[in-house]
Amino acid sequence: MTPEEVSEFEAKIRAYVGRENGPRQRGKDDVNLAMIRHWAEVIGDENPAYTDPDYAARSRRKGIVAPATMLQIWSMEGYPMCQSPKVDVQRELHNVFESYGYTGTLGTNTRTEFYRELRPGDQVSYHTIIDNIVGPKKTGRGMGYFIETVTTFTDQNDEPVGRQVFRVLKFVPPPQDAAQAGGGQQAAAVEAATRIASPRGHDNAWWWEAVDRGRVLIQRCKSCGTLRHPPRPMCGECQSIEWDSIESTLDGEVFSFTEISYPRFPGYPYPLVVGVIQLAEGTRLVAGITGCDPSAVHIGMKVKGKVEQVDEKTWLPQFYPV
Ligand SMILES: [Zn+2]
Repeated sequence: MTPEEVSEFEAKIRAYVGRENGPRQRGKDDVNLAMIRHWAEVIGDENPAYTDPDYAARSRRKGIVAPATMLQIWSMEGYPMCQSPKVDVQRELHNVFESYGYTGTLGTNTRTEFYRELRPGDQVSYHTIIDNIVGPKKTGRGMGYFIETVTTFTDQNDEPVGRQVFRVLKFVPPPQDAAQAGGGQQAAAVEAATRIASPRGHDNAWWWEAVDRGRVLIQRCKSCGTLRHPPRPMCGECQSIEWDSIESTLDGEVFSFTEISYPRFPGYPYPLVVGVIQLAEGTRLVAGITGCDPSAVHIGMKVKGKVEQVDEKTWLPQFYPV
């Protein structure tokens, strides 16, 4: 950049300091038990103050509270944010950076303060301002600026309940990273997305290793002959842990199916139909159904499977209409 361009750029970005990202907004959902329970389950937080009304009533809290770190949850936009990202002031500022070559983005750190515990029925509103822009600074990623936003959270009485500072680094990526930062085609060529790797453990690695060699096996109890899938150590019929396997002919029919539309995972072809296949041998298998229009797939449809290479490192049985 020429000195004139630098001062023009500096003037443009500094004009954003102190601006609000948008008007104060109320969270989509007020504090509620269902979201608290789901969050506690996912995080694995078993504190009964979050989910057990009797326990919570007897505790010093005198009732259910939401985990403090859920604060930001109450202001999240959810999936619409990904489908049609809105151009807010913060996005506008990022666009200014990008037009001057600061195309790299890295969330660096966040600091949250909590002023009181939220309870079911509380209504959380949030308001974000662009608080500060620090830079230019030489960082490990390249020359960049830190953008600091501050979000204040308030309740139904306009009392503050928390505050969050979020820092993002906008930087000029070094030349070899430029394609990746821009998400261009070159980046795609560097590393093609692959499917989620199969989870291989002590009891099922043998099954996946057979798939790698093009065969679909079905585990068979050596004691009573019952077939079972997915692989597991013990027969559910006779509790024997002795087993061998047979090879499936991959003749089958669709027992159930779904078309996966959203979210789209990198490395998977779309449209993507996944079914539970009832194999001729009697066991069922979850696999992709391909080779026809998704609308043609139906329960009871006769299918035939083939083990195919679906990406650089993955072999999978896939089923085609007969
Ligand atoms: Zn058995």
